[in-house]
Amino acid sequence: METFDAIIIGAGPGGLRCATILASHGLKTLVLERKTEVGPKVCAGGIPFHALAKLHVPDDLHEASFPTQIIQSPWQQAKVHFKEPVITTVNRERFAAWQLDEACKAGAIIRTASAVTAISGAHLTTTHGEIAYHSLIGADGSASIVRRHLGLGSQHIGVGINYQLPEPWPAMEWHLDPKRFNSGYAWIFPHRRTTSVGAYACRNDLDASTLHHRLLAWAKIRGIDLSAAKAKAALINFDYQGWNFAPVYLVGDAAGLASGFTGEGIFPAIVSGETVARTILDPCYQPILLTRLLRRQRMHNRLQKFYSGNKVLCQISLEMLVLAIRLKVIGFEVLEMY
Ligand SMILES: Cc1cc2nc3c(=O)[nH]c(=O)nc-3n(C[C@H](O)[C@H](O)[C@H](O)COP(=O)(O)OP(=O)(O)OC[C@H]3O[C@@H](n4cnc5c(N)ncnc54)[C@H](O)[C@@H]3O)c2cc1C
Repeated sequence: METFDAIIIGAGPGGLRCATILASHGLKTLVLERKTEVGPKVCAGGIPFHALAKLHVPDDLHEASFPTQIIQSPWQQAKVHFKEPVITTVNRERFAAWQLDEACKAGAIIRTASAVTAISGAHLTTTHGEIAYHSLIGADGSASIVRRHLGLGSQHIGVGINYQLPEPWPAMEWHLDPKRFNSGYAWIFPHRRTTSVGAYACRNDLDASTLHHRLLAWAKIRGIDLSAAKAKAALINFDYQGWNFAPVYLVGDAAGLASGFTGEGIFPAIVSGETVARTILDPCYQPILLTRLLRRQRMHNRLQKFYSGNKVLCQISLEMLVLAIRLKVIGFEVLEMY
């Protein structure tokens, strides 16, 4: 049977980052991706600006970058200005193409149209046969087969709905509206020539269909015409229960590392992909960045739980949060994972 030092299931941002580091250190590394191409993913593409700088991502992958953030609630608007951009948007297909190139240059083998259908002992069953591994990395998203293999449930799940409109928008906007989105929000994230408009909520508060109706009603009131695009939805796992089950590891959404409050998960996936790779290479590796990110995630998940508890309390306290951001008592960073 074909054997690899490391098999990574899923060629998302977490899996490709992990593959690049492992392969560049000489490990025989295989990435299995069930889709026929690497990249397409329902996503608004927002990522902290300095996170991309840290990864040395080429400038032309920045779709649009924003030093000003607009946070809107039913009663007020906070407009926060920074000297440097705080958030950038990326096109997930173009970003994945760059990551894929990095992984291939490092020596990783990528097999698309290769779904993993079963895991047993130290080997996997795929649509193309059986393969053995020394380390197995589940970077296979919110419905991870590796997570299920480890016996971990997923109680805390968010749902995101995205419309990619065919024209740009002048500003990056966050709309907190508890009557519509409970502890979630609607967003307007401009890209270079398009704009992502969508909504996120915890699935225990709102099911996907209710969230969609409320997003449509919100867009209508705002005068945003969504008819030029198609709604796409996906789940976002924020039920973190660990990542290191050596020789099995979890990365990104498979590990439940997204924020329960904002649904941000690209950067956590990249950080955890890198952490898993460095831990496989050196079991004594200190995961400083991931530990910091986990602290932020705990805070975000507590905020999500608090705001989803009582609707009236949620409305008042979210207004207080926006006021605090307006008065600069709390930094905009409260919404970020980094
Ligand atoms: C509407 C919406 C908007 C979002 N907006 C943002 C945003 O603005 N910013 C942000 O940071 N995050 C956002 N997110 C979250 C973000 O998309 C995810 O957190 C991120 O993609 C997680 O990366 P990952 O590498 O863990 O997994 P994924 O990107 O989900 O990749 C997993 C890969 O595994 C593959 N796979 C799954 N099962 C198998 C299998 N059995 N065999 C082989 N391959 C398999 C999948 O095909 C997929 O390619 C959004 C999510 C949604 C739904």
